[in-house]
Amino acid sequence: MRPEMTATLWSRTEPSPQQREKLRAFLDQRYGPTALEWVRDEGLKGGFRLQVGEDIYDWSLEGRLRQFQEKLRDLNPGREGIIPLIRETIETWDPAAAPQETGTVLTVGDEIATVSALKNVRYGEILLFPGGIKGMVQDLRRESVGCVLFGSSQEIRAGDTVRRSGKTAGMPVGDAFLGRVVDALGQPIDGKGDIRASDYRPIEAPAPGILDRQPVDTPMETGLLAVDAMFPIGRGQRELIIGDRQTGKTAIALDTILNQKGKGVLCVYVAIGQKSSSVAQLVGNLFRRGAMDYTVVVNAPASAPASLQYIAPYAATALGEHFMYQGKDVLIVYDDLSKHAIAYRALSLLLERSPGREAYPGDVFYLHSRLLERSAHLSDALGGGSMTALPIVETQAGDVSAYIPTNVISITDGQLFLESGLFFSGQRPAVNVGLSVSRVGGDAQTKAMKSSAGALRLDLAQYREMEVFTQFSSDLDDVTKRQLTYGQGLMRLLRQPQYHPLSQHRQVITLTAALSHLLQDIPAKEMKDAQMALLAFAEAQDPALCQRIDETGKLPPEDKEAILALTRRFLAERKAGA
Ligand code: ATP
Ligand code: MG
Repeated sequence: MRPEMTATLWSRTEPSPQQREKLRAFLDQRYGPTALEWVRDEGLKGGFRLQVGEDIYDWSLEGRLRQFQEKLRDLNPGREGIIPLIRETIETWDPAAAPQETGTVLTVGDEIATVSALKNVRYGEILLFPGGIKGMVQDLRRESVGCVLFGSSQEIRAGDTVRRSGKTAGMPVGDAFLGRVVDALGQPIDGKGDIRASDYRPIEAPAPGILDRQPVDTPMETGLLAVDAMFPIGRGQRELIIGDRQTGKTAIALDTILNQKGKGVLCVYVAIGQKSSSVAQLVGNLFRRGAMDYTVVVNAPASAPASLQYIAPYAATALGEHFMYQGKDVLIVYDDLSKHAIAYRALSLLLERSPGREAYPGDVFYLHSRLLERSAHLSDALGGGSMTALPIVETQAGDVSAYIPTNVISITDGQLFLESGLFFSGQRPAVNVGLSVSRVGGDAQTKAMKSSAGALRLDLAQYREMEVFTQFSSDLDDVTKRQLTYGQGLMRLLRQPQYHPLSQHRQVITLTAALSHLLQDIPAKEMKDAQMALLAFAEAQDPALCQRIDETGKLPPEDKEAILALTRRFLAERKAGA
């Protein structure tokens, strides 16, 4: 019978007849009749290398060392020692059990490589290129696979050998990441030394199923009156922050992180396609305000390859999941997903996928849905942890009906719509009350907030309507005038400087006083000062009440009366003082 295959054997010295016999038996058993040819390779120090078709069996000294090295790298320091690993490696090493499939680089450029002849490779698998560069399979074709590189494509040449790793992309995770700044591969970039990871998680993981979840019922307080009172966010919810550039999107997310201090929530902030200087500024802010203790920052700057910008949010989510599955509450900020989609579009076009609407590939919806679905409030059986997502999307000229904005709006549980007009008129945070929504709603508010914020949205809606209606009329009756000043006063109260989150009792006191029309006669200009003075007055006069609101989250009628009485006293003293 004529042999169908040819096997090539490389070694420094010619194999002995016994060795040949053994090899032949192995080849016959695995591949059927195979011709064996021997090539001298002076480069091999010991052992030999055997190639049959696309399978490579590496029995060389270098190969064994490399495999050992890889095992060492994956070694989990907490769980196993090094001695058992060495013993296991020596005793159980069986190269015949795992042929290494290899391919050849066909073309390379722009951080993309096409590789031939990897029959069994899977989508998302990591390929190993010479020089330690890794790539991820993103495109499977009959003749070749397309692969995005996590390093410079300059060091790779056409014809280079590529090995399969058998693994999908993963991210080292662990508590040691808190307080650190890392890149999309989990490598520290803050110059503070290595991070001892306690585990390794795939960056792409299936989202928890329906039975693994429970309803969102605990507030994730942002500390911003405009958000907590009208668009409350719950732990496990996904709330989109959307608006034009420079409208305070990052500021809302940052304030929310700062407001988690002492609340047991761990935060992950992932910067995608931003200037490293802005990220450095943000990290500096987090440090100065003591928020880095419970925060991890993942940075894939605009200067990083598109492939790293593409995987950054998934890697950050893996970090968040590590905490969530320990039963902890996590807040994750994706800043921003528009730039993420743009990085993915660049990759897809370079991989020669056909462009669709706005030149994005057809699966751009799935890009973000599979990411945001991983945020959840887990069932008690799974530990009851949660991951709240605040994705950020940038719009052009307020156009929320563009492709990416509509996609992400439909995936999330609500959006905070920020408007340049409001922002520049000084109304900051520039939340548009009419277009924003939180679909989880009152379930994510404490009783105290719910009862005190009740009428706010409605009153503001009435005010806006009346404002438009009365724009051109000069003489207004007194009732209308009063309504307008009342509305203006409310809008003033919703203004809040950056880095000044309000605690629950401060929000409750403000709302209770304002919505009962007690602050009606304070001129709009003086409103913010009056609010701060009132809060200081209440905290000095009745600290027990403030503490009770914060601790119980309830506002029984007698406490509401107490707030109203305090407000009246404050107003009387204010009047007497003036
Ligand atoms: P970009 O599109 O560049 O990412 P952005 O929408 O994230 O911008 P920010 O960077 O958060 O906007 O804010 C823009 C500027 O407005 C910053 O200088 C910030 O300090 C300021 N700012 C944001 N919120 C407030 C606020 N509530 N009060 C005062 N200044 C604010
Ligand atoms: Mg920003």
